Amino acid sequence: MPIRVLPPELVAKIAAGEVVEMPASVVKELIENSLAAGATQLTVEIRGGGVGVIRVTDNGSGIPGAEVELAFQRYATSKIERAEDLEAISSLGFRGEALPSIAAVAQVEVFTQTKDEAAGTFLCFKDGAVLEKASRGRPPGTTITVRNLFHSVPARLKFLKSASTENGHTLRVVSRYALAWPEVSFTLYIDGRPALRTIGDGSLREALAQVYGHELASGLLEVEAPGLSGLVGPPALSRSGRDYIQFFLDRRPIRSPLLLRAVEEVYGGLLPPGRHPAAFLRLSVSPQEVDVNIHPQKAEVRFRDEGSLFRALQEALRRAVGRGPLPEMETESPFPQLFPSPPASLPLLRVLGQMAQSYIIAEGPEGLYLVDQHAAHERVLFEKIKGRKAREIEVQGLLEPLVLELSPRQEGVLDARGEELEGFGFGIEPFGPRTFRITAIPALLQDRDIKAALLELLDALVEEKGPPWEERVALSLACHGAVKAGQSLTPEEMRGLLQELERIPNPHTCPHGRPTLLHFSSSQLEKGFGRR
Ligand code: ADP
Ligand code: MG
Repeated sequence: MPIRVLPPELVAKIAAGEVVEMPASVVKELIENSLAAGATQLTVEIRGGGVGVIRVTDNGSGIPGAEVELAFQRYATSKIERAEDLEAISSLGFRGEALPSIAAVAQVEVFTQTKDEAAGTFLCFKDGAVLEKASRGRPPGTTITVRNLFHSVPARLKFLKSASTENGHTLRVVSRYALAWPEVSFTLYIDGRPALRTIGDGSLREALAQVYGHELASGLLEVEAPGLSGLVGPPALSRSGRDYIQFFLDRRPIRSPLLLRAVEEVYGGLLPPGRHPAAFLRLSVSPQEVDVNIHPQKAEVRFRDEGSLFRALQEALRRAVGRGPLPEMETESPFPQLFPSPPASLPLLRVLGQMAQSYIIAEGPEGLYLVDQHAAHERVLFEKIKGRKAREIEVQGLLEPLVLELSPRQEGVLDARGEELEGFGFGIEPFGPRTFRITAIPALLQDRDIKAALLELLDALVEEKGPPWEERVALSLACHGAVKAGQSLTPEEMRGLLQELERIPNPHTCPHGRPTLLHFSSSQLEKGFGRR
């Protein structure tokens, strides 16, 4: 084939692929345009998974009759003028690509009127060309209707999922914008049925209640810090997926692996394995601090100073989560609660005895407590080791050094981290090929299986993903240093353990997220015994 310049319709279709991937991307672009036009009420309707009809109606500024056709040309935008504007983008979409891209792969109708015009404009595009133009009246605002999406691009159509999956994508997009703009009232109809409605009173908690239900919304804790606001869940409100972790850069829903990691790390030791927190966080940083132009759909952003943002976010979250009461479990239930209520920290507990050499039975002002001795001790040690600087760890010399053979990967870790491990109390010397001598250990490993502890610690440090390495050391040492189930404890030892548990943060779960104690409240006991 000879080289030639592609005709404009074909260029438009190719470009459309970047902007319009599926029905939900059309919905997203239209919502962004409505919001940019200052709409306070926004209605989205979809039929047939969005392939049949997508209609977005707003009460925004409207498009002046003389500019409607221009809005459908590529690179036609009212949002930027100069290259310098790119440095300080604070508006939503700005490439002037959405409307022409949509019109390249669907049939589009626009019906719009500004408040200064006596009559509105109705325009119908087919295959990117004007099919019909008329003058009609309507209240100020804009309605854009998109029909037969991708019918002219069968290859795209083939990649779409079932209507219910595509509906799910649209619901997610509308929900995210409804949360980003709580002062705007959003309504979504799917195949004629109302699927979502927010009232738009400006409250994030209220918008969350409408999107996810009152139960979730009412349990969330406030996060406030300079440049950061939002709501996050207490540890007891964990979820099975990451859908409930959402970030907004001002009014823009964004994705950020960096921020996601910051959040998950804070909850790392507080949630059971495989569970995720709820967090809805809005950042406001000056436009110069971010680059929003790195992703065609502008969903992913890059921050200039990632390190300090990361730390500031974690600090604010720790404050919020640490302050929050753990929500009450089912109060009617005769079964024990995972956490006592209201349990910001533990009340003073009186030891009654030990059960099955694994659980400490204790009494407190609120009833009966069963404490898992291993989990509780693990939490206590974890907090101690984590809070302490290296070199402050008590060291125990070994009269008879232990000899240990390492795998090449373990040896590599020892090479890289040997000095730091020394800070935690380990004395380790080379002894032969891949063989080492342990001459000293952190005192808390005394009487424990030292070889197993050290090998597991090195393995934990081999992993590429996970919490920072100091935290991994603390986790590993806490796990191996803690009393085991099946070990009998003296009353003094039990009292000592409970006193320490009363003093530390996060006393209700072990570092892996298992509960450290079960609580039977006095009223549960009364109910259980039929006294009430
Ligand atoms: P961009 O949003 O990047 O400018 P679009 O193709 O999405 O590009 O829109 C082109 C222009 O059409 C916008 O800049 C805006 O002036 C106008 N426009 C689109 N939708 C609306 C709307 N709902 N209300 C008012 N003006 C709109
Ligand atoms: Mg746009």
